[in-house]
Amino acid sequence: MSEIEEREIIEKFEDFLKKFYFKELARVVEEGRTSVNINFKELEKFSVEIADLLLEEPMKTLELFKRSIDAIDLPFEESKEIEIRFFNLPESRMVAIKDIRSKHIGKLICIDGLVRQTSDVRPVSCLVTFECPACGTMIEQEQDERMIRQPFRCPNCGRKGKFKVIKRKFIDTQRIVLEESPETLEGGEQPRRISVFLRKDLVDPQIVKKTCPGSRVQVIGVVVEVPLPLKGGGESTRYDLMIEANNILPSEKEFEEIELTPEDEKEIRKLASDPKIYKKLRDSIAPTIYGYKIIKEAIALQLFGGVKKIMTDGTERRGDIHILLVGDPGVAKSQLLRYVSKLAPKARYVSGKGTTGAGLTAAVVRDEFVRGWSLEAGALVLANKSVVCIDEIDKMDKDDRVAMHEAMELQIVTISKANIQATLRCETTILAAANPKLGRFDPYQPIPEQIDIPPTLINRFDLIFTIQDKPRREIDEKIATHMLEIAKEPELKHPVIPPEMIKKYIAYAKRVCKPKLSDEAIKELKNFYATLRGKAVSAESEVKPIPISPRQLEALVRLAEASARVRLSNTVTRSDARRAIRLLRHCLSEVGIDYETGQFDIDRIVTGITTAQRSRIVTVKEIIAGLENKYKDSPIPITEIVEEAKSKGIEATKTEEVIDKMKRDGEIFEPKHGFIKRVIFR
Ligand code: ADP
Ligand code: MG
Repeated sequence: MSEIEEREIIEKFEDFLKKFYFKELARVVEEGRTSVNINFKELEKFSVEIADLLLEEPMKTLELFKRSIDAIDLPFEESKEIEIRFFNLPESRMVAIKDIRSKHIGKLICIDGLVRQTSDVRPVSCLVTFECPACGTMIEQEQDERMIRQPFRCPNCGRKGKFKVIKRKFIDTQRIVLEESPETLEGGEQPRRISVFLRKDLVDPQIVKKTCPGSRVQVIGVVVEVPLPLKGGGESTRYDLMIEANNILPSEKEFEEIELTPEDEKEIRKLASDPKIYKKLRDSIAPTIYGYKIIKEAIALQLFGGVKKIMTDGTERRGDIHILLVGDPGVAKSQLLRYVSKLAPKARYVSGKGTTGAGLTAAVVRDEFVRGWSLEAGALVLANKSVVCIDEIDKMDKDDRVAMHEAMELQIVTISKANIQATLRCETTILAAANPKLGRFDPYQPIPEQIDIPPTLINRFDLIFTIQDKPRREIDEKIATHMLEIAKEPELKHPVIPPEMIKKYIAYAKRVCKPKLSDEAIKELKNFYATLRGKAVSAESEVKPIPISPRQLEALVRLAEASARVRLSNTVTRSDARRAIRLLRHCLSEVGIDYETGQFDIDRIVTGITTAQRSRIVTVKEIIAGLENKYKDSPIPITEIVEEAKSKGIEATKTEEVIDKMKRDGEIFEPKHGFIKRVIFR
């Protein structure tokens, strides 16, 4: 750009501001704000040339625009600078994070994504005033590197060397990491990320609140290249791309944002009034997986969800329905979860182990760039208002385990570590799967004891299904036929309602209806709950069953509400209540609670088994329990366990194997060589 061109640009932009933004600028000054938001489309209409220039050479052009503001006669406070921020960039400048390339360097673009990580807000000195020790001249020097840059020589006396720092001017900066939003990903792709630098008023508290991890934002900014630091110093030839933000705007696109045409609406209404709709929905969930009708029905209700309630005292009751599947390996749990994660917008599939550093909830991590700490959101936070399918939840991180309690019930994640304190929202529905404690269900042990998840956490699941891989001839044959048919012709088992339609249906139902309980439904639920509670209290079995608590009542309400939503009805009827009761009763009876007696019915599980048939683990455990009586609090000699096991027909090597496994599982430990002790949880 020549000097004349530059002056033209400044004048032209000044004209533009005077014509369209004079009032706004005056208001900015009056309210003490430090930036003005300008609609790019208006600038484009005013002058295509300077609008193009802004897109192509944003750094330089913004500099010139700032000079235009200086030229306008406004009642400025001294030294107050006004930033110019743009919104409404043309469609052609919307770039997906995964598509950012070197050709974008230095250009103005617009990206959309989820805030994955936010650093502390830190001051950076941008302008330092030095004093010349020889003649006392004040020298101002702009700073844009990490190290403070000293003046080369004093402009007055020509002295070289060290100068004294007199004054620093600071600006606030923050680094955030944006992650590609999930709906732009094509099946199975991992979301890409990019760092974004925010400066000045973009880190004002009211903006920071809207850009916390998990929120969805649009960033308008310039792509810059940052050399990757080399270990030994020196400049690297490799670069990382980042965004220097010009503007950041919160955007909310959830379930409700799915666009529906009038035809869609008509079709949804038709589906909802179909008397067979519950069956149709059920059969549309993972049609390639054989059986599991009741689980699929529960998942269908889960996707529709109950109604979130805000009490008069300001507390909230979640509407999300959490479901846990515990089952033997190879019964298609993972498969089912993967399918469901494709049925809801923004949904995620994660594995309890092997998720990123932030895991499921949130974490505080070191941030190299601002030399401070960063808050990183985990899957539950990123999937706020949607569904997360957590596979192998029993293997999740210890920290997550603690945070999950709060996440599931209060639907927030609070984190307080280093100097970061934050509360993140996670109104997230959870569908989780786990393997039994010993890898496989032991048919001779009560099931609740075999689920390796703390009871307090189990209690937060509305429904728990157990899946046992028992060989049963006719079913096995059917599964085999089903699987082989699919292998032969994958198109054969297409869902009754296509996934796209299900998404729309759910979005529509969530948007238009907030069902309320009818009197009959209340009566139905009350009866069921009261009898169940009454019976459970009288139960005095040794094994603690899954406790029946008011949480189950809330679960029933949510399930019944979801059932009403399927019909797009605002009234929860008696049959909705009955559907909810049927599902809960099924789950309770699966884990061994007999509905009729309320007793934990161990007989149903252990009928006709001799000691010799019991698995070794159970026997060894019993031996240990027996010896505990003898040794009280002191450690038990392993030799004695082996001896006793031998008398019951278990070889020494097998017993040692079992002991090793128990040690690895953290059930026992070896306080001194050759002795073990049971780990007791209080
Ligand atoms: P899990 O996670 O429970 O260990 P997977 O989801 O990995 O099991 O399933 C193992 C395989 O067995 C998958 O390929 C799945 O399709 C198949 N499979 C198991 N049970 C069924 C079933 N009922 N219908 C169809 N496929 C099944
Ligand atoms: Mg699995």
